[in-house]
Amino acid sequence: MAKNYYETLGIDKSATKDEVKKAFRTLAHKYHPDKKGGDEAKFKEVNEAYTILMDDKKRAEYDAYGRVFSDGQGPGPGAGGGGFDGFDFSQFTQGGQGFGGDMNFGDIFSEFFGGGRGEKVKRGRDISIDVELSFEESIFGINKKILLNKTSQCQTCSGSGGAPGTEFLTCKTCNGKGKIREMRNTILGSFASERTCGTCNGHGKVPKEKCKTCAGAGVVRRENEISVKIPAGIEDGEMIRLTGAGEAITGGSPGDLYIKVHVKRHATFRKDGRNLVTDLKVKLSDALLGAEHNLQTLDGNVTLKIPAHVTFGEVLRIKGKGVPDDRNKRGDIMVRIIIELPKSLSRDARKKIEELKREGI
Ligand SMILES: [Zn+2]
Ligand SMILES: [Zn+2]
Repeated sequence: MAKNYYETLGIDKSATKDEVKKAFRTLAHKYHPDKKGGDEAKFKEVNEAYTILMDDKKRAEYDAYGRVFSDGQGPGPGAGGGGFDGFDFSQFTQGGQGFGGDMNFGDIFSEFFGGGRGEKVKRGRDISIDVELSFEESIFGINKKILLNKTSQCQTCSGSGGAPGTEFLTCKTCNGKGKIREMRNTILGSFASERTCGTCNGHGKVPKEKCKTCAGAGVVRRENEISVKIPAGIEDGEMIRLTGAGEAITGGSPGDLYIKVHVKRHATFRKDGRNLVTDLKVKLSDALLGAEHNLQTLDGNVTLKIPAHVTFGEVLRIKGKGVPDDRNKRGDIMVRIIIELPKSLSRDARKKIEELKREGI
């Protein structure tokens, strides 16, 4: 079975060793079996491709013959049994091939990926909350005020961590850069990484006197009132994300706030796109003779004219009292007529119906 190592790594046949490394790094990280959603089979494939393509001799063999022959055996088109099928992953964990040394894969990957991926930005926790809306609020939108107890920027020092009016001095740990650069030597090469300076939390400056409210952290846990603009026409179960409204963190950016919307049911109406739909029970005589009916809409009372000879299931439309779109043009109310037949007839009524029957009605 011919394998395409270039395809496996998603690279060109002319890829340089650096490009091979880069592709391997990305894919190995993606498929690492220790990771949630990892894929051991793919991970092995990626490793195999990487080992072959990083080895000049094996890569040349592979390029020439479409496969790699066992160590020691000379390349030859007829050397069928000596192929690379049945790749043994355990070779790598024993460090026998490719990488050398007695390092195991876990070490390699924690070194390779743990904290070494360029600059890491600290981020506060995301918060999820639930908000219940009345049906009307969901239709017309509303500015909702929400009280939230969370870690937020300190109001006394506006996040600087310094007492009001204090002097700020250049941080000695990072020389005012706010970041500390580290070189990591791994068997796959040297990689530079940067981390936020812990002394100044990335500000590059430290206050001479710390803020008393937050003890210099720049953040405190307090109750916040958050105003959320809920858009008109929001549906039950929809999620609103407020970027940066989650938990604040010292020396990093705040998380996000996720608001899950629950809409209460309405006693009369249900939503169908931009229309509001309801059923209306009409007496048989009203259906035959026509009538006027009071309907409580979201905009107050409306008189609905029921035409004579309305039929069962007929839909009457009240224009412009439905759900607004983003240009504030509103849908309609759709009233479905349900003709209610009397459950019982008085002797008198029965006589009259019998008369109607003789008339052919
Ligand atoms: Zn403060
Ligand atoms: Zn610093």
